[in-house]
Amino acid sequence: MKKLQAPRGTLDVLPPGARRRLDVVAIADDVLGRAGYEPMETPVFEDTEVFARGVGESTDIVQKEMFTFEDKAGRSLTLRPEATAGICRAYIEHGMHKLPQPVKVWYAGPFFRHEAPQAGRFRQFTQIDAEAIGSDDPTLDAELILLLAEILERAGTGPSRLRLSSLGTPETRADYLEELKRFLRAREGELSEDVRALLDSAGMEYEIDPTLVRGLDYYTRTVFEVESERLGAQAALGGGGRYDGLVEELGGPPTPGVGWAVGVERMLLAAGDSPGEPAERLFIAIAKPDAARIGFQLARDLREAGFRVETEQAGRSLKGQLKQADRLGAFATVILGDSIEVKDMQTGHQREAGSLDQVLGLVREVTRA
Ligand code: AMP
Repeated sequence: MKKLQAPRGTLDVLPPGARRRLDVVAIADDVLGRAGYEPMETPVFEDTEVFARGVGESTDIVQKEMFTFEDKAGRSLTLRPEATAGICRAYIEHGMHKLPQPVKVWYAGPFFRHEAPQAGRFRQFTQIDAEAIGSDDPTLDAELILLLAEILERAGTGPSRLRLSSLGTPETRADYLEELKRFLRAREGELSEDVRALLDSAGMEYEIDPTLVRGLDYYTRTVFEVESERLGAQAALGGGGRYDGLVEELGGPPTPGVGWAVGVERMLLAAGDSPGEPAERLFIAIAKPDAARIGFQLARDLREAGFRVETEQAGRSLKGQLKQADRLGAFATVILGDSIEVKDMQTGHQREAGSLDQVLGLVREVTRA
C-alpha cells in the first residue's frame, strides 16, 4: 500500500511541539485581549478576487504563490495566503463600519503559499494576525507595534530588529523602486512622526529603513517588519502596516486600517527549546495500588486550582514514574504512598503533607521557591 505522508515541511504539529504553538497563541490572546482586540475568524478559502484585488495582482503572492482551484460550480477559489484581505471582506460584508470604530480584531490559523519550502518557509504555516480597522489615529500604529513586541518578548523569541518606514500614499508612490527609495530618503525626516514619538516614549528601539518593501500591495504610509537574528535566510518574524485604501478597494466605504501578521513557526524556531512561559506542570505518582483513586480525584482538584496535572496511568514503578515526571517537565511530583509527599523536581527536596488538604499549599510553595 502507498505510504501516506503529509506535504513536506511543517513544524511542531505532533506532541509535545504542538503544545508550544498553543502556548504562543495563548500569549497573543492575553496580550491582545487586554488591549481590546477581539478574536475573529474568516474562512480558509475565499473568492480568488478577494486576494487578487486585496493583496494586489502584481504581487508575487498573487502571481505565483496562491493555491487556486475551481469548485464544482466553476467558481475560482483560493486558499488564503494572508489574513487582512479576508478580514476586510468580512468587515464590508457584515457592515462593521456601523460598529463603534476602530474595530479591533485578532486571529490565529493556517495560511497557504505555494513557495519553495526551506527552513522557516512552509506551504502551510500559521499566522497570528491583529488588525484595527476604521481609524487612522497613529496611536493605533504604535499600539500594534508595541503589542507585537510584547508577544515576541513573552514568547521568548530573543533579540529582534524593528525596521520602520513609510510608503507614502498610492498617489505619491513612485513607479520604480529606485525612484521610490529616493523619494523616501528625501522624506525620512517627516516619516510617521507620531508613531515614532509614541515608540520613543515607550522606549521601543527601531531603525528607519527606507529600503523596506513589503510583498503586499495594500500598504500605505506606515510599514514595519520585525527580524530575528536567530533565523536564517527567512529572518522576518512578522510585519505589517497601514492599509488605508484596502476596504475601499474591496468595495467598501473609504476606511483606514492598520495591522500585522507574525509567523508562529518562525516564532518557535527563534524561541528554540525554551519558548514562552514555564508551564506549571505537576505529576501525581501512585506509590501504592489503592492510592490510584485518591490520585485521580487529587488530579481533578489540582487542575481546578490552575495547574496542568497528570497522574500515573501506565502502571510504572515509582522510579519509572519519577522519570516520567521529569520527562514531562513537571516542577513538582506529589507521591501518594504510605505518606503523602511533595517533591520539588528541581532540587529533589521532598516535604511531607499531613493530609490531602495540605498538598495544594506545599505545591504552591514549590512554585514560589
Ligand atoms: P507577510 O504577510 O508575508 O509579511 O508574512 C507575515 C509573517 O508570516 C512572516 O513574517 C513570517 O513569519 C510568516 N510567513 C509568511 N510566509 C511564510 C511561509 N511560507 N512559511 C512560514 N512562515 C511564513
